Amino acid sequence: MTDTLEQTDVIVVGAGNAAFSAALAARDRGRSVVMLESAERGSAGGNSFFTAGATRIVHSGLESLVDWIEPDERHARSEVPPYTYEDYTGDLARVTEGRGDTEMAHILATEATDALKWLHTAHGMRYRLMYERQAYENPDGSFLFWGGLHVGNVDGGEGLFADYVRAAADAGVEVRYSSRVTDLVLEDGRVAGVTYVDDDGEKVLRAESVVLASGGFEANPRMRETYLGQGWANAKLRGSPENTGDLLERAIAHGAGRAGDWSSCHSVAWDAWLEDNESNRELTNRLTRQSYPLGIVVNVDGERFVDEGADFRNYTYAKYGKEILKQPGSVAFQIFDATTRPMLRPQEYEMPGVSEVVADSVGELATKAGIDVEAFVRTVTEFNDSIDPSIEVDPNIKDGRRADVMPPKSNWAFPIETAPFYAYPVTCGITFTFGGLKGDLEGRVLREDGSVIDGLYACGEALGGLFSGNYPGGSGLAAGAVWGRRAGSLA
Ligand SMILES: Cc1cc2nc3c(=O)[nH]c(=O)nc-3n(C[C@H](O)[C@H](O)[C@H](O)COP(=O)(O)OP(=O)(O)OC[C@H]3O[C@@H](n4cnc5c(N)ncnc54)[C@H](O)[C@@H]3O)c2cc1C
Repeated sequence: MTDTLEQTDVIVVGAGNAAFSAALAARDRGRSVVMLESAERGSAGGNSFFTAGATRIVHSGLESLVDWIEPDERHARSEVPPYTYEDYTGDLARVTEGRGDTEMAHILATEATDALKWLHTAHGMRYRLMYERQAYENPDGSFLFWGGLHVGNVDGGEGLFADYVRAAADAGVEVRYSSRVTDLVLEDGRVAGVTYVDDDGEKVLRAESVVLASGGFEANPRMRETYLGQGWANAKLRGSPENTGDLLERAIAHGAGRAGDWSSCHSVAWDAWLEDNESNRELTNRLTRQSYPLGIVVNVDGERFVDEGADFRNYTYAKYGKEILKQPGSVAFQIFDATTRPMLRPQEYEMPGVSEVVADSVGELATKAGIDVEAFVRTVTEFNDSIDPSIEVDPNIKDGRRADVMPPKSNWAFPIETAPFYAYPVTCGITFTFGGLKGDLEGRVLREDGSVIDGLYACGEALGGLFSGNYPGGSGLAAGAVWGRRAGSLA
């Protein structure tokens, strides 16, 4: 090993959303910052690159956003319901069934808006309303936003990464790509730097503080099987192949505690048949299939297995991937007809190479898709017959238009009756893991006994505690911005 004795004030490990937020916050305080990113420049950006950029923040309606989001001629025709502190903390508590850390939830809800405004004002990050994902256009051309998730990065995750790279360069942050951190350097019980490998071999970089923003362990099949359980090695990896969890394991080996729910993760419905359906940087998030609340989902036996309309997509999508993984062959089919097909998200259902089956009858659809025909026809018939047509269907609100079957469909029960019929094969796409390192509220990494490991911070998915079992859409990027900023403000 070549010890160059090179020194900086702050090392940030990773080049995703949390890492850039930490690096910029440290740089704002005049600290010298080096970011070490394992991927080469063309594959960098972590999971953050693959996102839609959707970020959950508290706000009091469009008026409170227009000063710092991109102008759009549709604003005049748009209603953006306020999303309050109580909504945010309530959603976190509800979807995690009370297992998330309440103090962290308080901080997330309190600081996410300010974190985005800071990134915009001080560093030129660009945000906008998420028309194509979070609102349906009404016949009169107006929009009503739903689901508490309204703001996102311009050009999604690719825009987020491009904006951050420019902001980091402007701020004087050095980013070293192709630099995989292999371990922490500890001296007298405190973290004093890292070892890393680049094209020239193994090196040491010393620093006063090290911020781990290196993501979870979703890209590591061994850790998935160990912590999430049997079968999880078979899930398809939606995002970066770099997040292998090695640094979580190294930090734990050096005494760091674990926090959050190591036995659960974020996972979604994902194109099952496309060959290149893992870590695909061209299609990124377009492989996801998120319009299922408008239809039904069946397995190859022709049986439904979730309430597709239990809530807005933002509150169910992250836990339904796991339900698909449990089905025979870990495959399911999202079913729509000619009425609902035009309402599906175009970026996803009109993706180049989308896996799609189209037929003129329900039976033919099942035959072509490889679903048990008799059972499927029965499922669709019973579903259609159980809908109360006196309740008007309205996808902008929880309309209570239910189908009284088992499992029920609680909202948005459109009958499947008008040809052509459509089936989209989906499997389980794993997004990120919920377990991480134990930290205090500033992101200082703690030992199991609660004492601080001096010099070590964690943020983003590397920091555990917020999520368990499920997650309100858009909270991952929000948490990375908040705890990146917190860690960078101390490091
Ligand atoms: C397809 C997809 C869509 C998503 N959409 C959204 C969305 O719209 N909104 C939302 O809030 N969340 C979304 N998420 C979740 C979101 O990506 C994460 O919550 C968030 O990006 C995590 O940020 P992070 O900075 O912690 O991790 P990442 O962005 O994953 O960054 C981790 C970084 O660490 C690097 N790294 C890992 N190990 C090492 C090492 N040993 N040495 C050096 N570098 C290392 C990686 O290369 C990477 O750059 C989505 C995820 C995926 C996969």
